Amino acid sequence: IKIKITNIDIPVAFASAFEGEIIRRGDMQVEFDGSRVDCAELVHTVDASEIEDHKITVVGPEVDDMELGSKNSIAYVVKVAGKNMQPDFEPVIERKFHNYINCIEGVYHTGQRDMQRIRISKNAFAAGFRLKHIGEVLYASVKNEFEAVVDKCEVIIYTDPAECTRIRHEVAIPTFNKRDDRLNNLTDESVDVYYSCILCQAFSPSHVCVVTPERLGLCGAVSWLDAKATNELDPNGPCQVITKERPIDERIGEYEDVNEAVKRLSQGALEDVSLYSIMEKPMTSCGCFECICGIEPFSNGVCIANREYAGMTPLGMTFPELASMTGGGVQTPGFMGHGKHFIASKKFMKAEGGIERIVWMPKELKEFVADRLNQTAKELYGIDNFTDMIGDETVATDPETLVEFLTEKGHPALGMDPMM
Ligand code: SF4
Ligand code: ZN
Repeated sequence: IKIKITNIDIPVAFASAFEGEIIRRGDMQVEFDGSRVDCAELVHTVDASEIEDHKITVVGPEVDDMELGSKNSIAYVVKVAGKNMQPDFEPVIERKFHNYINCIEGVYHTGQRDMQRIRISKNAFAAGFRLKHIGEVLYASVKNEFEAVVDKCEVIIYTDPAECTRIRHEVAIPTFNKRDDRLNNLTDESVDVYYSCILCQAFSPSHVCVVTPERLGLCGAVSWLDAKATNELDPNGPCQVITKERPIDERIGEYEDVNEAVKRLSQGALEDVSLYSIMEKPMTSCGCFECICGIEPFSNGVCIANREYAGMTPLGMTFPELASMTGGGVQTPGFMGHGKHFIASKKFMKAEGGIERIVWMPKELKEFVADRLNQTAKELYGIDNFTDMIGDETVATDPETLVEFLTEKGHPALGMDPMM
C-alpha cells in the first residue's frame, strides 16, 4: 500500500516559494560546506529487509551542539528499497535533494554530491528546526515523488566529522566514480538522442542544459545516463528526448532539432546553441556550474576555475567574479560553465581545438582530472603527461608569468590561432 504524504512534520513551512531564498551570513545559525569539510549526499539502494521505513537517525551532534555561525560536516544517506528500483535511478533522486531542502523555510541548499552547501537560518533554528527535520523532508519528498519505484525509505544523517569523512571517501566518492565510469564507453556519435534538463529553471528561467554522453550537465550531477533515467521515471519531467537528426554544423555541434528544442524549452529566450564551442553560440549557464572556463588572450588558451578554488586566476578574476558574469541563463561567448568531468572530454571546446587550449587550472582540480585528461591528450594529440604543461596557482596567477611557464614547457596553445 502506498501512502501519499501531504503534510511534512516540521516546525517551519515547506513550499516551492522558499526555493529562491538566500540566507545571509549574519542571519545564519550554522552552515555545512562540502567545499571546505567532508560532506556528501547519497541515495543507496538496499534490500527491503535491510531497511526500516521512515526511520530517521542523526549520528553526531545536532544543531544545538554546534557553535553559532560555524561551518560543519554533514553526510546524509537515503536508503531506498523497492521492486522497481534500479541503481540507475539513484543519481536522479539525489539531484532532487537540492529542490527538496531548498523548499524548507529558512534553509538554503546549493551544490550536490560531496560539494553541497547548506545554511540553516537563526529563525528556523528558533522555530525548532533541527537536522532530523531534513531527514523528514527527504523521506516524505522521496516517497511522494518516486512512489513508482521507492517502497521503503530510511534516512541517516551523519554530522560526526570522522563518520562524514568515512562516508565521503569510502562510500560516496567510490559510488560517484563507478557511475562516471559507466559513461566512459559512450560517445555522442554512438547514441541516437540527447536529453534536455531544465531542473534549474526555478532559479534561471531561460536556462537549458543539453546533456550528451560526452558533455554532462554543468552541475556535474546529470550525466546522459541520469537524464535518460529521469526521462524513464517521468516522461513529462525535466529531461526530454532531443533528437539529433538534422546537423547544421558538425564542427561546433549545432543541430536544427537541438535548436528547436532549446528554443521551445527556453520559452523563446534562446535561438541556437552549439554543443562544442565556447565562442560560437555557447550553451548557457545557470548558477550551479562545477567549473568555469574563460579565454586567456595572451596564451591563446583558456583558464578553468572550480568552485572550491578561493584564489585568483590569471584572468584577473576569482571564481565568484567569473560566476557573476557567466550565470543567469544567457550566452556569454568566451566563458562557459561546465562539469568537472567535461574537462577530459574529447568534445571539450572541440570547435576551438579542444583540451590543447587548457593553459591553467587550480592544482587540486588538475590533480582530480589528471589521469583522464592525460589519457585524452595522448589519444588526441600524442602528448604525454599533458597536465605537466598546464599552469596552476603555484606557478602563476597573472598572465605574464603564466606565458613564461607555458613557453618553457612548450605548451601547444602558444602556437595555435588566437581565439578572438
Ligand atoms: Fe539540470 Fe543543467 Fe541544472 Fe544540472 S545544471 S540540474 S543538468 S539544468
Ligand atoms: Zn543550475
